[in-house]
Amino acid sequence: MIDMHVHYFPPAVFKAIWRYFETHTNGLWHINYRMSGEKQREFLRAKGIERFTTLVYAHKKDLAMRLNDFIARESALYPELIAFGTLYAGDGALAQARTIFEEYRFFGIKLHPFVSGEEIDDERYFPAYELMLHYGKILLCHPGSAPVYQKYDGVLRIRRVLSAFPEMKLIIAHCGAYEYEPYQRLAEEFPHVYFDTAMNCVHTPVFEHNCPGPAFFQRFQDRVLFGTDFPNIPYDYQEQIDSLKKLKLGEQIEKKIFKDNALSLLFSADSGSTHRKENTG
Ligand SMILES: [Zn+2]
Repeated sequence: MIDMHVHYFPPAVFKAIWRYFETHTNGLWHINYRMSGEKQREFLRAKGIERFTTLVYAHKKDLAMRLNDFIARESALYPELIAFGTLYAGDGALAQARTIFEEYRFFGIKLHPFVSGEEIDDERYFPAYELMLHYGKILLCHPGSAPVYQKYDGVLRIRRVLSAFPEMKLIIAHCGAYEYEPYQRLAEEFPHVYFDTAMNCVHTPVFEHNCPGPAFFQRFQDRVLFGTDFPNIPYDYQEQIDSLKKLKLGEQIEKKIFKDNALSLLFSADSGSTHRKENTG
């Protein structure tokens, strides 16, 4: 299996994030897995996860590149990591994108507008998006209001980005929850829109009405990617796997969701950079 929505921060940053979650949700969001580094990698290996992403995000200036440097070092050491970095427009997104895609050869980036305070359609990102498109890289974004955000304009902003870059490979985190319908319409329109399953269909008081139903998974069976949000989850990791299997989608669709869709998407993001890099010398 491949987990396309795993966070991978340095231990001190993880601790700050966990503290934030637990104090801002009245204790509802109890982090089940206070794990980083070796413990985190070992846990996922034991769960049968062959490879997983290293999602990071920055909420202030001068943090994004430190996180990217950390991911570059770690992914050079551990081949199971699928290197994803982040950009922060306030630091100069294009220069950051050049480093992480041309030097570090990351697969993509994660942007979390609710945390960074920078909107996905902020035009300071556009030169970086252009570079990503050139190299075929992946943009993973959390634009939906779930589980705790009181803001619903994500789909409009994503549409603005896709109108400018219709070929962009874009993963909508959490299947777009809670705005399931509008993101599905977007995916109908733009063929390179994907979804990750993180926190969908599990039972947790912090995230209810969180399953788009079997018809959604059938319809987008080639574009849904297994993801969990590990380790920042308030329930058992196995529940994410079981909750998807309970939908009884059949062996073939499960194989696509748990592994094959991710493999082909990652292959396209990787060969893009190698190919073009060679061409430009
Ligand atoms: Zn996440």
